[in-house]
Amino acid sequence: MQHFPVFLDLQARPVLVLGSGEVAERKAEPLRAAGAEIRFATQFEEHLLDGCPLAIGADAPEAELQALAAACRARGIPVNVVDRPALCTALMPAIIDRAPVTIAVSTGGAAPVLARMVRQRIEAILPPTLGRIAAMADRFKSAVRARLPDLSARRRFLETALAGPPAELALAGREAEADAAFTAALEQAEARPRGIVHLVGAGPGAADLLTLRALRLLGEADVIVHDRLGTEAVLEMARRDAERIFVGKARANHCMKQEDINALLVRLAREGRRVVRLKGGDPLIFGRGGEEAEALAEAGIPCEVVPGVTAALACAAGAGIPLTHRDAARAVTFVTGHRRDGGVDVRGLVQPGQTLAIYMGISTLAPLRDALVAEGMAPTMPAAVIERGGTPQQRVLRGTLESIAADAPGWVTGGPALLLVGEAVARGAAGGWLQAA
Ligand code: SAH
Repeated sequence: MQHFPVFLDLQARPVLVLGSGEVAERKAEPLRAAGAEIRFATQFEEHLLDGCPLAIGADAPEAELQALAAACRARGIPVNVVDRPALCTALMPAIIDRAPVTIAVSTGGAAPVLARMVRQRIEAILPPTLGRIAAMADRFKSAVRARLPDLSARRRFLETALAGPPAELALAGREAEADAAFTAALEQAEARPRGIVHLVGAGPGAADLLTLRALRLLGEADVIVHDRLGTEAVLEMARRDAERIFVGKARANHCMKQEDINALLVRLAREGRRVVRLKGGDPLIFGRGGEEAEALAEAGIPCEVVPGVTAALACAAGAGIPLTHRDAARAVTFVTGHRRDGGVDVRGLVQPGQTLAIYMGISTLAPLRDALVAEGMAPTMPAAVIERGGTPQQRVLRGTLESIAADAPGWVTGGPALLLVGEAVARGAAGGWLQAA
């Protein structure tokens, strides 16, 4: 983060604005809207800063602006000098005012026009009367606290109430009805929330390949249990204060045993927490989501699965390979490259007009090739390996079953990689169809 945003209480406090022209007036306006008493001056004098939590340099002579900036630095007062980033210790954001909701957007001075564009986009999705919802929440603050002392129960109730009927009524300006609806909802709220586990597919690792439902659940989770390096971009989307528990492989370290992960999920849910179990790709494809769901069902804990974009789909789109094609493939099979005992098993998988998407197959490429050829596949069958498919770091190696088995081991750089084999792999577009995020 380049700059840290804070919101200043300027009610009845002086703010020095150095300058007197149009620019000074324009800068003063939002400060006044926040209750500040503007102290205009054209010449800088040290005492003008007394009591100021903030100062602005506008259209004053260079020497005056320099003196202002130096004095503010010395006294630790944030200062913004218009169009002079080197003199600034504070930036003026683009502001969306839905008091008491305030949204400030900054590009760190790089592109104020972009900040205004972002502001317009956000404005377009926020109702103009949004502030009324915040005001309603404020009116009920102590009542909610008293009724729901448990933080997680409170949060869950508010997330529903502030998006549901009471909020709709508040937005419409029907305050009395909104308050009645809020009170009714509060009376029915569960004081001890029931825990739930969502098995959420994170997709291949690009944040914008998440589903909207996954995004919402990440924003609501009390705790996130995750197991993959490479889901950082997705974790960024989670609630800041959600607890994160890493249970996966970290380089050479061993990962947590599956039974222990199951037990952890059960324990967290029994504490009444809302757990997101985040898994790369889709939870139910080579993700052991099924095992976790079974363990939760056995323990009587509600569990819901949110599908994600599995590696085969992300890799196919990213590499420009059609998994099915009316002229080349009428079926696609997702298969693991090695069995639980480490062996390779492709019996019955070699059929004309089929695409094989082989997960976890890079360490067993040579035995896979031998097994596929033994089943009748031509060594010249089109094949491709896609590493980190669907992410900005995606790499694609194309060839035949024979050449891929020979070249891929020295080509991969350690990221997750998928093997695609079949006639359809030679079709499509070499450049890929999925724009890297
Ligand atoms: N549940 C996951 C798969 C987990 S198994 C999913 O649905 O995608 C792990 C294997 O998935 C890796 O060995 C690799 O073969 C494949 N994989 C996962 N992410 C990948 C990616 N971004 N690019 C290529 N292969 C990937």
